[in-house]
Amino acid sequence: MIDLTPVISDSPFAIYTCDKDGFITYYNPACAVIWGRSPELGKDRWCGSSDIFYPDGSPIALDNCPMAMTVKTGKPQENSLVTIKQPNGTFKNLKIFSRPIFNEQGVLNGAHNALIDVTENHEQEVRNAFLSAIVESSDDAIISKGLDGTIKTWNCAAERIFGYTEAEAVGKSILILIPASRRQEEDIILNSIKNGRRVDHFETVRLAKDGREIPISVTISPIKNGKGIIVGASKVARDITEQVRSQELIKKHTRDLEALNTIGKSISEKMDVNLILQRVTDATTKTTGAAFGAFFYNTTNERGESYMLYALSGAPRSAFESFGMPRNTAVFHPTFSGEGIVRVDDITKDPRYGHNPPHFGMPKGHLPVISFLSVPVVSSSGTVLGGLFFGHPEKGVFNADHEGIVGNIASQAAIAIDNSRLFEEVKSLSAKKDEFIALASHELKTPLTSIKGYLQLLSKGNHSETEQRFLKKSLTQLDKLNTLIDDMLDMSRIQAGKLSFQMETFDLKELLLDVIDEFSHTNTTHKIIKELPTGPVLVEADTQRLEQALINLIGNAVKYSPKKENILVSLKTEDGKVTFSVKDYGIGLTHEQRQLLFSRFYRAEGTGNISGLGLGLYLTKQIITRHGGDIYVNSEFGKGSEFSFSLPSKAKEQSSLTS
Ligand code: ADP
Repeated sequence: MIDLTPVISDSPFAIYTCDKDGFITYYNPACAVIWGRSPELGKDRWCGSSDIFYPDGSPIALDNCPMAMTVKTGKPQENSLVTIKQPNGTFKNLKIFSRPIFNEQGVLNGAHNALIDVTENHEQEVRNAFLSAIVESSDDAIISKGLDGTIKTWNCAAERIFGYTEAEAVGKSILILIPASRRQEEDIILNSIKNGRRVDHFETVRLAKDGREIPISVTISPIKNGKGIIVGASKVARDITEQVRSQELIKKHTRDLEALNTIGKSISEKMDVNLILQRVTDATTKTTGAAFGAFFYNTTNERGESYMLYALSGAPRSAFESFGMPRNTAVFHPTFSGEGIVRVDDITKDPRYGHNPPHFGMPKGHLPVISFLSVPVVSSSGTVLGGLFFGHPEKGVFNADHEGIVGNIASQAAIAIDNSRLFEEVKSLSAKKDEFIALASHELKTPLTSIKGYLQLLSKGNHSETEQRFLKKSLTQLDKLNTLIDDMLDMSRIQAGKLSFQMETFDLKELLLDVIDEFSHTNTTHKIIKELPTGPVLVEADTQRLEQALINLIGNAVKYSPKKENILVSLKTEDGKVTFSVKDYGIGLTHEQRQLLFSRFYRAEGTGNISGLGLGLYLTKQIITRHGGDIYVNSEFGKGSEFSFSLPSKAKEQSSLTS
């Protein structure tokens, strides 16, 4: 018989024996490795390790260990799992196979035990248990498939998202999830996987069991076996329905906002009602996705017909010609009575509107209206100006968002229409006022001219000193009146584009000296200080008009410096330009007042006690700019003002002509 002792001693399997009292009688080196120590034969009992535990971690008394139980009961312990702790603190998971040893008489003599180290397997099992717990608790569908596309594993989330149970899905082809139109995606994915490439966050659409299309984001990675060979793929799919929906919603809101902004801006900058209505109709038709849109005025025409079609989008005007005048139809009534918005998903089914336009009122060949939306356009005073109407040949095209957005645009449109009507009204009133001023000034001028003639005749006669004084005063006042009327006439001429100039070359310095001289005679309150060049200052201009400009500016300097301060007048020639300035130390102007100075009839507040029409600067600016010049003002409130104008100089031309 072969002696097995060296074989057992050499064996990679740990084997030891105990006698009937439990003393260890033999152990091979593999046992010492597992225990992490070498027990003393005939002294250590039951096991080479005294720290023994059940798989759940509870300790096992040495006397109750599997080997002890085998010796005590004479029964084998097969496949028991225990954990031991080595002296260095390392834990080992062992599978125990202990068997009793009987002598030839059948008396229990001891036992032998084989220990199998399953530490690694056990850890793998624990890891697997954790992994599968993670897979099962994941919110994402985690599916694995073979390289032929057969589904191998299927977690709870996959069942929840796609509707197939694990039993229904495993063994089937992954194609059950792929819509027919996207089948080629699977080939591309499999190709990547076979080449060891992962597909990351790929957004696509997959099919649920009930046929629903589900937007998903999927990451697919190759699965390798122990030898590193790719044997399949894992697929982690996230249901992004909500994400897609909110992105769509954000996009939609952004689009709506942009549309609102654009239309708001484009209609508020227009003053033409027709243009506003066309833009509003076009924009709302586009935003709602309507097949056509129309704006009807809430008005009665000369034939007594109401609801005049004004603007139209997406349909020919002829399509509406047989639309009739639907004042009393149930479908139009809520809109034109300002009751509110009407939105119907299928107007052909709606008992209220079933036999009325727009459905039955639409002409042959025109799009039948199924989806219907109408929104009243109500002015700030509450008057229903009209209504916006939209139609589409499919059901349920319009939704609450459309109501909101069209309602919003309709209110902006109503404001724009109100404004443009006001603007038209103001324009026509202003035109009437201009007409009146032109007519009145013309009519006043004739009697004034004859009064002046008679007064001049009278003053030539023999009169007492008092009579002479009165006549002179009357003539001065008459001149003032004449100037005012002339200003009004000039303004009317400018408005009508009829102010003409008699151009000639003359010396502006001479003209200025004449004007100052005239002022010095009639006005003794202010001292006019001059700063003038030595030679002549030639300009090509209308002498009378320039005189008018000089009188206006110097006159204002006098009028608006009531404390009788000095006035500085200067004339300069520089860089081919002639510049005239008049500076006073009077009431001055604020920044806001300076912005309005040159407009018609403008008079700064607080100047009511000083006579004037607010036309002088308007006329002066017109005269100067129409001579190719510029006019500007420097002023500080309470400190004084300086008005200047510059004109092209004639000096160079003149000198080149004379040389
Ligand atoms: P008018 O003098 O007839 O009112 P103008 O067109 O000449 O009309 O002037 C417009 C307004 O500008 C004046 O009413 C006055 O308020 C202001 N203004 C003009 N010139 C001066 C000035 N030199 N200083 C202060 N305010 C002035």
